[in-house]
Amino acid sequence: MADTVVTRFAPSPTGYLHVGGARTALFSWLLARHFGGKFLLRIEDTDLQRSTHQACEQLLEDLRWLGLEWDNAQLMYQSKRTEIYNSIIDKLIAEGKAYKAYETPEELEAMRKQAEKEKRAFIYRRPQLTDAQIRQYEAEDRPHVVRFAMPVKEYRFEDAVLGPDQGVPASQVQDFVIRKSDGMPTYHFAVVVDDEEMGVTHVLRGQEHLLNTVLHIALQEALGYRRPVYMHLPVIQNLDGSKMGKRDRDKKVRTAVQLWMKNTRKTVAELSESTGIDAGRLDNWIQNSKTQLDIPEHQKIMPIAGLRESDLPEVLVHDFRKNGYIPEVLLNFLALLGWSPGENIEKMSMEEMVQRFSVEGIGKSNAKFDRAKLLAFNTDYCAAAPVEKLLPAFRDFLLVNPDSPLNLATDEQLAKLIDMKRGFHTFRDLDDKSRFLLMRDDEITLDPSAVEKILRKNDAQGLKALTDLRPILESITDWKHTVIEAAVNNYCAKTDLGLGKVAQPIRVAISGGTISPPIFETLEFLGKSSTLRRIDRCLAQVGSC
Ligand code: GLU
Repeated sequence: MADTVVTRFAPSPTGYLHVGGARTALFSWLLARHFGGKFLLRIEDTDLQRSTHQACEQLLEDLRWLGLEWDNAQLMYQSKRTEIYNSIIDKLIAEGKAYKAYETPEELEAMRKQAEKEKRAFIYRRPQLTDAQIRQYEAEDRPHVVRFAMPVKEYRFEDAVLGPDQGVPASQVQDFVIRKSDGMPTYHFAVVVDDEEMGVTHVLRGQEHLLNTVLHIALQEALGYRRPVYMHLPVIQNLDGSKMGKRDRDKKVRTAVQLWMKNTRKTVAELSESTGIDAGRLDNWIQNSKTQLDIPEHQKIMPIAGLRESDLPEVLVHDFRKNGYIPEVLLNFLALLGWSPGENIEKMSMEEMVQRFSVEGIGKSNAKFDRAKLLAFNTDYCAAAPVEKLLPAFRDFLLVNPDSPLNLATDEQLAKLIDMKRGFHTFRDLDDKSRFLLMRDDEITLDPSAVEKILRKNDAQGLKALTDLRPILESITDWKHTVIEAAVNNYCAKTDLGLGKVAQPIRVAISGGTISPPIFETLEFLGKSSTLRRIDRCLAQVGSC
């Protein structure tokens, strides 16, 4: 290993961070931390149309949430370095190692088509322009790009993960664009200049960049730069081998819509009418799984098809945050996507991951994203972690879920909910099952099937128990779960009813449904007056007997 390991994460900020990007950032961070080196962050925002300030902020927020702190206080933004790139590009032009190329996009397309017709690969090499032609183009101020005159030879390099002999033969080498017609450098050029300037020793990135490395090596050679160690990380896939991405979310919406149409016998025209989405577009999307709707369109359709955003498979780091995963757990899980610490070890703290991380442990083959495993990791972590550790994470979950009534709870109340409902899978799960406690009494809506099953069935036995319990609960002066439990048990003994037959009707009355944390602690939490008010509302709605 080099004296000081310097790694970097170099995202193109087009929005929230994808889990694949988070895995690259994590591996780069782990390698730097393992060797006591540096982990740097660089924002590759040379695509002016796609890189917005907001996208950049979202990305930084995701990295901070994950806890992958970077060591350069001053972030490097490529968009602010145009002059630096241009002075190097001008030097390359002066040395004859790069040149202006004047073809229009249409001309390039025609050249590509011609190659296709002749059944040969399209390889761009420097056109032989006469001095007169160049003078004319310059005089016309003709739009142009700058291309690197790539020395024609075989390029071979060793990848620390994929092994030696990566690269391309001389026949595949072609001149590539290093400055676009808008005056901005391309990714290939900026990445090489910046990795050199930042002293990057190890480049970790996804396998989709493997062959780009050839272009980067050629530029390094022309500029007299060092060559960092390259490590290309395995592709992350769904369990069925498909690519993990936005498509998974679209698929879930489509399936829900198909089911909704079948159950309700609604037509595409009706769906189009209620969403304002063109019927032809909807029809095509429903029939053809290769097409996708946009996110705003999903948002219009989902409530109709009975889907919540949290029902969609998470793809972005932000999705996992919003659905209540613990950042350390997500990182532990992501670490195993392509890296094996050996000795059958899976669950690790951040410190253990740093200590055990090694290049040798990174695999070549595709990594499978097993959601059930991640959920199990998160459940186990939440079951074991002390409440002081979970509380800030729960607050963070509520911050990104401002609609949750649990935002009204005090820290003490949240801590109590965590302990009452141990065994929860995610904070979303905890929120779903306990949010009724912080709702206003008049916001509780009774689930008709719970009313039928628990209160009305068997000659309204449940409703009767609830009516009987109302005065018993009212008479309790010391509203503690132990006292409530004793009073309810006493009623059960007298009436010969099992606790379940009594607890469930109370649950329906106070929560609207049949799921809650343990009933007596729940009642203590809710307080006497709310409990009685909710029972009264329920009795009034269902009809006392
Ligand atoms: N901006 C590139 C990306 O987001 C970085 C690739 C690299 O690490 O070189 O894919």
